[in-house]
Amino acid sequence: MPYQKGWKVCYACTGLWLCPDTKNFGGACVGPAGEHDAMGAPMFFELYYFGPETVRNYSGIEQDNWRCCKKCFVLFFDGNKSAGVCPAGGEHDSSGSKNYILEHQRYLFTDDRHRLLINWRWCKKCQQLCQPDWLVSRDFMCPSAPNATHDTQGSGFYCVRQDQWI
Ligand SMILES: [Zn+2]
Ligand SMILES: [Zn+2]
Ligand SMILES: [Zn+2]
Repeated sequence: MPYQKGWKVCYACTGLWLCPDTKNFGGACVGPAGEHDAMGAPMFFELYYFGPETVRNYSGIEQDNWRCCKKCFVLFFDGNKSAGVCPAGGEHDSSGSKNYILEHQRYLFTDDRHRLLINWRWCKKCQQLCQPDWLVSRDFMCPSAPNATHDTQGSGFYCVRQDQWI
């Protein structure tokens, strides 16, 4: 299954966002900086996605339809009626995104190459993935409303593969 490297955690919204190598641009974030804040975070993550050769397998281990918003760069779930509030304005925009796959935590497996960061959740207000255990995070800021925090009620538990330490 193909995978994509280069995802980071934002310290303000705790979202997983795609940090491009080629542009010095941090997307859009509800945090005080106005863009996602990696704070020199040493961790990168990688996400699997459906490629042309991927066999769709609804075994219950994975969930697809997670997308990268082209306006704010954050990972969000695009399988609900609303795409969720985007910090860049309006709703998240999945156009041009790969179809990313997340593993449900209770089925997680490990291998020699990866560490796993567990306890990722989905926010029902902004649809993005967020990380309540991110201990160094200043906040748990949600773009759904001023001074809002993410609401993970009803969320599953997800794990994401950590790519490398720098
Ligand atoms: Zn952010
Ligand atoms: Zn967005
Ligand atoms: Zn939220």
